[in-house]
Amino acid sequence: MGDCIFCKIIAGEIPCFKVFEDEKVLAFADINPISEGHTLIIPKGHYENLWEIPENDLLAVQRASKAVAAAIRTALSPEGIACLQLNGKAVNQVVMHYHFHLIPRQSHEPELKMTAWEMVPGDMEAIRETSKKIAAAV
Ligand code: AMP
Ligand code: ZN
Repeated sequence: MGDCIFCKIIAGEIPCFKVFEDEKVLAFADINPISEGHTLIIPKGHYENLWEIPENDLLAVQRASKAVAAAIRTALSPEGIACLQLNGKAVNQVVMHYHFHLIPRQSHEPELKMTAWEMVPGDMEAIRETSKKIAAAV
């Protein structure tokens, strides 16, 4: 937590391009944007991922994501907005402080890679078994 770059942004020790703030969350521009308007929404508490963040903080992030998505639509008129949230190094989470990406796509911009996976039908028996395991654990 002491070394967390997003905690430092919240503390005002590192600058950011802020677009929204309330008592629980902060939203600011991603400085390596995948597209114009790429914005991050983070809880002010340090929680690493979806497993750790308390429900109330998660709700605050989601509520803010709706307001910021509306603002992005008003400001930039994108064709669509991708929502992305990574949990764990195995899926390339780089900053270990929960963050929710809003990634708008303008019609003149290239397709967003993470939204363009190939649809390949799965093994229905395997899907059934895996779903059963997850359902039993909910
Ligand atoms: P990930 O952990 O892979 O979901 O992505 C971390 C994101 O944080 C990347 O898109 C980075 O560009 C972004 N990022 C890292 N440091 C900063 C910073 N100081 N200000 C804004 N965005 C940042
Ligand atoms: Zn942090």
